[in-house]
Amino acid sequence: MNPEKPGWSHSAHKLKRIRIHDKTDGCDWMKVTIERDSCVSCGQCWDTCPTFFEQNSDDSFSEIIEDFRSGGNIATGTPSADDEACVREAADLCPVTIIKIEE
Ligand code: SF4
Repeated sequence: MNPEKPGWSHSAHKLKRIRIHDKTDGCDWMKVTIERDSCVSCGQCWDTCPTFFEQNSDDSFSEIIEDFRSGGNIATGTPSADDEACVREAADLCPVTIIKIEE
């Protein structure tokens, strides 16, 4: 459970993934990938959406905050519903367009 995201849990994540298959309720589930090798560490993503992106302390590139990673991968994850809008904004603002969204 992410203390900054009341109501968010891994079980909620699983429910959202199941819901996408029937697509009857306009579910807006998304998968986000950062192509980290091309990150220029400008900070736009973590400034715009600090509850989903952060700066990696070792290589300075962007990474996904641990609670939202898929399989522990720092470059791939799924945001909570509350963060979907800021994730989209961050992807739009990334100067090298390396934040990819699948839905
Ligand atoms: S906005 Fe793009 S280039 Fe800038 S830190 Fe985030 S992922 Fe890296």
